[in-house]
Amino acid sequence: MIAQVIVDVAAKSVDRTFDYLIPDDLKDVVQPGVRVLVPFGPRKIQGYVMQIVSDEQSDIEIHRLKPIFEVKDIQPELTEELVKLSEWYSHYFVSKRISILEVMLPSAIKAKYTKAFSAKHPEQLPEYLRLRFNQDGLYPYKAAQNQEDVATLLTLMKQGIVEEVTLLSQHTTKKKQRAVRVIHPDMGDSILMDLEKKQKQYELLAFLLDEQHRSVLLRELKDMNFSTSAINTLERNGIIEKYDVVVERDPYEGRVFEQEHKRQLTEEQQEAFDQINRAAASHQAETFLLHGVTGSGKTEVYLQIIDQVLERQQEAMMLVPEIALTPQMVQRFKSRFGDEVAVLHSGLSHGERYDEWQKIRDGRARVSVGARSSVFAPFKNLGVIIIDEEHEATYKQEDYPRYHAREIAEWRSRYHHCPLVLGSATPSLESYARATRKVYTLLSMPTRVNNQQLPEVKIRDMRDELANGNRSIFSEDLAVAIEDRLQKQEQVVLFLNRRGYASFMLCRDCGHVPQCPNCDISMTYHKTTHELKCHYCGYHEPAPFQCPSCGSEHIQQMGTGTQRVEELIQERFPSARIIRMDVDTTSKKGSHEKLLKAFGDGKGDILLGTQMIAKGLDFPNITLVGVLNADTMLNLPDFRSSERTYQLLTQVAGRAGRHEKTGEVIIQTYNPDHYAVQDVQANNYLAFYEKEMQFRQLAKYPPYFFLINFTVTHEKMKVALQAATHVHQTLLQHVTEKAFILGPAPAALSRINNEYRFQILLKYKHEPGLIDALRYLDDYYHERYEQEKLALRIDIGPYMMM
Ligand code: ADP
Ligand code: ZN
Ligand code: ZN
Repeated sequence: MIAQVIVDVAAKSVDRTFDYLIPDDLKDVVQPGVRVLVPFGPRKIQGYVMQIVSDEQSDIEIHRLKPIFEVKDIQPELTEELVKLSEWYSHYFVSKRISILEVMLPSAIKAKYTKAFSAKHPEQLPEYLRLRFNQDGLYPYKAAQNQEDVATLLTLMKQGIVEEVTLLSQHTTKKKQRAVRVIHPDMGDSILMDLEKKQKQYELLAFLLDEQHRSVLLRELKDMNFSTSAINTLERNGIIEKYDVVVERDPYEGRVFEQEHKRQLTEEQQEAFDQINRAAASHQAETFLLHGVTGSGKTEVYLQIIDQVLERQQEAMMLVPEIALTPQMVQRFKSRFGDEVAVLHSGLSHGERYDEWQKIRDGRARVSVGARSSVFAPFKNLGVIIIDEEHEATYKQEDYPRYHAREIAEWRSRYHHCPLVLGSATPSLESYARATRKVYTLLSMPTRVNNQQLPEVKIRDMRDELANGNRSIFSEDLAVAIEDRLQKQEQVVLFLNRRGYASFMLCRDCGHVPQCPNCDISMTYHKTTHELKCHYCGYHEPAPFQCPSCGSEHIQQMGTGTQRVEELIQERFPSARIIRMDVDTTSKKGSHEKLLKAFGDGKGDILLGTQMIAKGLDFPNITLVGVLNADTMLNLPDFRSSERTYQLLTQVAGRAGRHEKTGEVIIQTYNPDHYAVQDVQANNYLAFYEKEMQFRQLAKYPPYFFLINFTVTHEKMKVALQAATHVHQTLLQHVTEKAFILGPAPAALSRINNEYRFQILLKYKHEPGLIDALRYLDDYYHERYEQEKLALRIDIGPYMMM
């Protein structure tokens, strides 16, 4: 038999499978998805087995093939499905296969670790084998391969006599605890008889014999009031022994989740539930767009669908934009499904992530809740995939290999014949357009649970405020409303657009704004360190006291940081207790959740924050939401800027009055007439959708056209420009006249880290010759990058246009 292997070398030239012979002893473990060590030139490197072919199928001369050195996994880390997915993905999204395999696996796997066989019932092992297990009852996998024992051990594993264990190195070691077991359980009864007079030892031993197949933790024995001296005596007399067991870490350990109960669904919820459940029960790969206003009970629908899926012995995958921002969501899942839930996110340590991944792989956790990369979770029998807040840009990975979780989810939904649910209060234009064309099935939930009114939204024109002599950050109305809530002891959320709060320095005499010397971008002022920083390349310098351009001393901080806004609020409302949430106050692990909890517990009157407070906040006492600067996002050079503004404002507005008390929202803006702002006020998604679709059609943007953004970078402007021209020419030769090619033009960020950047934008509908052109360009520029650091980035379906 021959294994086709992708080797772990990130070079374009080896981006294909290589053939290796499978040694006889290993033929049962070498399967698609296992990792192997193979000879590669003079080196020994790691690879992933993609496929097994018999030597008759292959026209290669067998005697010239080299054998696999060693197998690293006893069971495949990658499922067969993921192996296939990687093949599809690398082709259509022009990415190296090895890069995709690596994003699929949790990072702990890349860390150093080894696998071993562990003896569950050493007494049932053949004598010669038992001797090869070490003191800890382990037989390292590698040694077993050297002794050609693997085939035998696999049989024993099937019989439940040995099992597979993973030994992670330092950073990732599993938590160990002392446990106790009887050394010779078969002699237990006769020992017991001898102990009849020693009450405590007798009780202990009787208990342990009863539980002999379970490892009992020392701690547990003590909790059950078994006497420590009895334990020690039995150990001294060679009847029992203490040993270390690996205990899985549960990142949510020690936290009590309130038991949540199923709710009687409303009519709208029931309708959505029925349709999704029908598709799930009949194993249909149908995609649903669940368009439900904030508070319409989408999450409740998800929970009940998953409940049904679990009933049918299937699994469920739930994606959320960012776990850290949705602690309440995790809590609801944990409280419904308990240990069945694996939570996957970047805040976990390598080891924790690996534990969660294994729980899924081994079928111990049948529900996952996670951010983007959890779309690759190794489920084998998915019954539903849900993407909440499907419009969020975080579902697109911006770094290589660039992928969109929705595309992966669609593929997996077809593979498993299970429905995919995209949920949002403000669907992406792409998804909604597909729903109107019946590619997706549209499900609408236009009313809030219990018919709660959506909050009233008021727009305040900040130009008027200025004309009336109000120079503060609060419009008169907002100030009055805040005062009112403080009096009534209700809570206020104030939202500050992230893009608006970066502060910079400006010389009031000559207008100079300090720029990064490496990038064409203004530097950000940081008050705590009194420094100027570049967010693109990391360059920083002390903030100047004199203008570097004209020497004037009138150079000062401009723009309003969150910290400054907090001061302004405190000045205006001295009695208010303010909780501020921004990158500075939430950088520590868990701090985000703590601040939210404090606010939920009523330890603050005003929650001030950036984008991160827009999501998932669900507290009954919030009755006022103020948006301090609605439009900083509208002016970005990005065709999605109106869509993002609409989505963000709707989401923020949805935080108010979610329960019994009515809510009010005040949006402050300099563009009160913009439809993105107006339609939020009217809470009219369709009106917004129609206007925005007209713009997209005129400007030839998605969903009318697909986009590919090509960015060429090089330290010499001329080289970069020439290459961009070459990309343009190549595309021209491969696409029809129905496609449009824009550029080359300097990118919006035209220089980063001393490299010049040019862009070409391709707009197209259907281009059969395109994939070949992309693959050609990708290969060609990989080579030029290796020779002269000339890079081409191909972004299919771009979200960041800068
Ligand atoms: P969404 O996800 O659409 O924002 P949620 O599912 O979070 O909405 O529901 C909003 C609130 O209403 C939550 O507090 C939830 O517990 C409650 N809720 C949802 N469905 C029902 C129902 N059928 N009956 C009573 N309360 C419900
Ligand atoms: Zn100056
Ligand atoms: Zn820079």
